[in-house]
Amino acid sequence: MRRRQFIGFLVFSISLVFVSLQPLLAAEATWKVGIASAKITPGKAIWQAGYGSRDRPAEGTLHDLWIKVLALEAANGDRAVVLTSDVLGFPKNMYDSICAELKTRCGLDRSQIMLTASHTHSGPVLKGALYDIYPLDDSQIALIEEYSQELEKTIIETIVKAFGQQSPATLWAGEGMTDFAVNRRNNPQAQVRELRAKGEPLKGPVDHGVAVLAVRGPDDNLRAVVFGYACHATTLGLYQWSGDYPGFAQIALEQDFPGAVAMFHAGCGADQNPLPRRSIALCGKYGFTLADAVQETLKKPMRPIAPRLGTALELVELDFEKTLSREDLEAGLKKNIYYKRRAERLLKQLDEGQSFAPSYPYPVQVWKLGDEQLWITLGGEVVVDYSLRFKAKYGPQTWVTGYSNDVMSYIPSHRVWEEGGYESAAFYVYGQPADRWAPEIEERIAASVGRLVETLD
Ligand SMILES: [Zn+2]
Repeated sequence: MRRRQFIGFLVFSISLVFVSLQPLLAAEATWKVGIASAKITPGKAIWQAGYGSRDRPAEGTLHDLWIKVLALEAANGDRAVVLTSDVLGFPKNMYDSICAELKTRCGLDRSQIMLTASHTHSGPVLKGALYDIYPLDDSQIALIEEYSQELEKTIIETIVKAFGQQSPATLWAGEGMTDFAVNRRNNPQAQVRELRAKGEPLKGPVDHGVAVLAVRGPDDNLRAVVFGYACHATTLGLYQWSGDYPGFAQIALEQDFPGAVAMFHAGCGADQNPLPRRSIALCGKYGFTLADAVQETLKKPMRPIAPRLGTALELVELDFEKTLSREDLEAGLKKNIYYKRRAERLLKQLDEGQSFAPSYPYPVQVWKLGDEQLWITLGGEVVVDYSLRFKAKYGPQTWVTGYSNDVMSYIPSHRVWEEGGYESAAFYVYGQPADRWAPEIEERIAASVGRLVETLD
């Protein structure tokens, strides 16, 4: 066959194939996705969550706080919901109550519900969380509880709304990179700027990957982008509501893609800080840098995700090293104000006849989107070793999110547990009746992830 004829034949064959595939493609099952969001900026002056040094409630708004929802339905009707939020993390009482309500209203089990948080330190204190680190009087607690109840209602209504407006969509996975997260245990804040200026390497493990999930409509337009990064949202310490750098990143992406919703979830960044920090300019810079990393990922070829969905969850019992006794609590009365408040509260519970469990039901969740994309979500403030461990074991494209479902404490790896320091033992912040997890914490969590991944194979 002569060259010209051959090319003509090829073009003819390709167009034949194209034509014959068209009806198949049109008939192929797709995801159905519903997206909804709601503003949750508190209307009243309540306390902000994060930083024990705060001495008064919020005084204004830098930018609004949001919850955003992705209601997913696979081709066979399997469903799941992802919620992202500009809050520090949901406490157990809210997680339990939201799950119970979603069971009734939407028929969803816990494994199908992913409640994530940006861990902004400029969002509201929620019901029952962090009460021991602030001087909250009864009227402040009443405001927090009123807000939390309203937030729960908004979350349920927004999820119901998202399921009610599902339409066909395609899902795409990819990973970007940006390096503003610094291991805060290994790099004193004051030295970071100097080391960066000299081009010298910073120390300690980090995970600079940006997980990106794109949701596109039938005409390929971007409807939502869900992205995660492992770094504390602690650039700002102002008395103004804000989503910190994730808030700026979401605003930037929503401006760049009009009509699309940008959703942020925090990775395993419990030992990672955005450094240097403490200015709105730096906060905006980190947010825009992250938004750029997401944009770059969206421009490259991404992996299509087949419309199949697997969800699994365990509440795995994590042992405390030692549950606090009455004697421990009485000794705590003489320690600093945070220990003192916790001791007073827990002693009252003992006086009322309550006892403290020796372990905690810790949420470990694994989703499989399509045939390959693993998404592991863990409760609590998870240090970076976990995401590095799971990416090494399950592949670099694995997504690992912390601060999910129930944020009850820091979650140290075995390395951090042995080294000690703030992330290994900051239990007083969350008011748990112990000072430390038992040493096998990492292995227990990894075993749970392993079991869940197996069930999805
Ligand atoms: Zn934190």
